[in-house]
Amino acid sequence: DSGHAPRRIRPLDPDVINKIAAGEIIVAPVHALKELMENAVDAGSTSLEIVVKDGGLKLLQITDNGCGIDKQDLPILCERFTTSKLQKFEDLQSISTYGFRGEALASISHIAHLTVTTKTQESNCAWRAHYGSGKLVPAKPGQSPDPKPVAGRQGTQITVEDLFYNIPTRRRAFRSTSDEYNKIIDMVGRYAVHCSHVAFSCKKHGESSTSIAIQANASSTDRIRQIYGGSVANELIEYSTSDDRWGFKAEGLATNANYSLKKTTLLLFINHRCVESSNIRKAVEQTYASFLPKNGHPFVYLSLEIAPERVDVNIHPTKREVNFLNEHEIIQAICEHIRSKLAAVDTSRTFLTQT
Ligand code: ADP
Ligand code: MG
Repeated sequence: DSGHAPRRIRPLDPDVINKIAAGEIIVAPVHALKELMENAVDAGSTSLEIVVKDGGLKLLQITDNGCGIDKQDLPILCERFTTSKLQKFEDLQSISTYGFRGEALASISHIAHLTVTTKTQESNCAWRAHYGSGKLVPAKPGQSPDPKPVAGRQGTQITVEDLFYNIPTRRRAFRSTSDEYNKIIDMVGRYAVHCSHVAFSCKKHGESSTSIAIQANASSTDRIRQIYGGSVANELIEYSTSDDRWGFKAEGLATNANYSLKKTTLLLFINHRCVESSNIRKAVEQTYASFLPKNGHPFVYLSLEIAPERVDVNIHPTKREVNFLNEHEIIQAICEHIRSKLAAVDTSRTFLTQT
């Protein structure tokens, strides 16, 4: 019936708004980890060590050897829209570092217990700070929230504990911590292939054996060998193509016609960020269809660099999708190049078997 009096409209509490927004950016532990890895690489790190407990829900810890964070920046580190990477709107058009909106750490601090330990080259000690809801908080009730001096090496260690502790419905939605761990391993593996010159390790908390261990000097093929196995690594062709008309450069490694898998593995990086693109996936699959047996699929690592002014990275809160100009032309050019590489390998093999 219509006997209800209208309810008054009230603004939501800012903390509630922040929590909702954070839950949209960080849906699963792997999304937090991806942001933290990007930050570490942005900071010039050559080593990333990752420790995970309960699929990242209990603990996600990433230790890097990058530039560190200035002690004076610690009070505002986890406020929304604080960043060292973007000053004005126009900068969005020429941003080349991975992160750009200053939202990752803020988001994490709203839905987890966050601890940052960091040391710059100039500082003679490391500083440790705890965060909650965007602000410095004391380590224990009653203590001061100010950062504390501690011993430590140059770089930054970020510890995320009890992710989604204050969103019980989300927390309960995770059925299996091993599924979440597998997603983490998958993402670490992708970045480990892409970030050459960077060492990666990833393991479960309390275990001595690592799931991923890549040395800084490992080649791209070696990285793929260690993460995806020798059967992939032994059948790779290197490719590289570019076109100034559309402002792009593409390079990577892709399996030849000797190799085929039940499902396509596509490691796609656009301007050094791991993204998804169903258009690129479809085009790649089509390219291989004429080389592989029916139901056979390739492994493709593709690093695509596009002039920043042609890319719109700001379309999705999770930044998983990217829009760019001349998408169709660029995809066609890349696939045509891969096709020619595949055909060249194919003819040389036919030639070899004929003689
Ligand atoms: P964004 O990466 O978009 O700037 P974040 O919330 O991810 O936003 O990070 C905020 C800022 O914190 C960064 O701009 C950077 O200055 C600093 N920062 C975060 N992680 C690290 C790190 N591992 N090493 C050095 N600085 C970091
Ligand atoms: Mg970031």
